[in-house]
Amino acid sequence: MWFPSWSHLGQVRAVCFGRKGGVSEKPWDSLNVGFHVEDDPQNVTVNRQRCVEVIGGRLEDWVMAQQVHGHKVARVTSQDRGKGAYTAENAVSGVDGLVCDSPGVTLGILAADCVPVLFYDPRRGAVGIAHSGWKGTVGHLVREVVSVMKQSFGTDPSDLNVCLGPSIRECCYEVGADVARHVNTEFGSSFLVASPHEPKRPDHFMLSLQNCIRSDLMGCGIPQEKIEDFGECTVCHSDYLFSHRESLGKTGRLLSVVRLPAKR
Ligand SMILES: [Zn+2]
Repeated sequence: MWFPSWSHLGQVRAVCFGRKGGVSEKPWDSLNVGFHVEDDPQNVTVNRQRCVEVIGGRLEDWVMAQQVHGHKVARVTSQDRGKGAYTAENAVSGVDGLVCDSPGVTLGILAADCVPVLFYDPRRGAVGIAHSGWKGTVGHLVREVVSVMKQSFGTDPSDLNVCLGPSIRECCYEVGADVARHVNTEFGSSFLVASPHEPKRPDHFMLSLQNCIRSDLMGCGIPQEKIEDFGECTVCHSDYLFSHRESLGKTGRLLSVVRLPAKR
């Protein structure tokens, strides 16, 4: 598991988990936290409880997004606690991002190659989280998170601490002409990496989602030095990270969470 340097800064807890330390069997071995991938739901609940032991709080205080590869963001409160905690059925529908300023609520995102992005505003005491695959990235999902945090909490982007969690990187993320066209339109051709990594198929490109997301974050006014990057690729390190692409779609999901501990 990985803690961004700002976890504990002020009062926040932020963690990106790897795949080890859980009870699920192959191909979900072992810390799968996704209910929607045909794993035994009891094992998923045990795995989630193990994550709770690391991050604190209670599983019934989790709020999860439905994750539809869109670019909508919901503001949640303590009224939403438990949504998506014990089943995927009641996760916050239609969104890929969540923001919150209620202590005691744990915001979570599941991913296996898509980029988990965690946000913390120490001045306003607010957090956010997003699931940014290629569709969310070209839809500028992270800009929407910053915008909703501004509107909801008065967040000044220069105060935000951000981290990009474990995800597929330009060494392994080969995309076809359709994805490349969207990236070119939204970010420019320099975000399609040709070197040192070469695509294996003709008319394909290597894409750095992390560079696109970082560009959007900096464009919002977040200082570069406040954007941390886990830095390792899910495909290259599928021994300790889940990768949808490396496993040809049959695998577990990694958990990333951010929470403001409950006030005593
Ligand atoms: Zn790689």
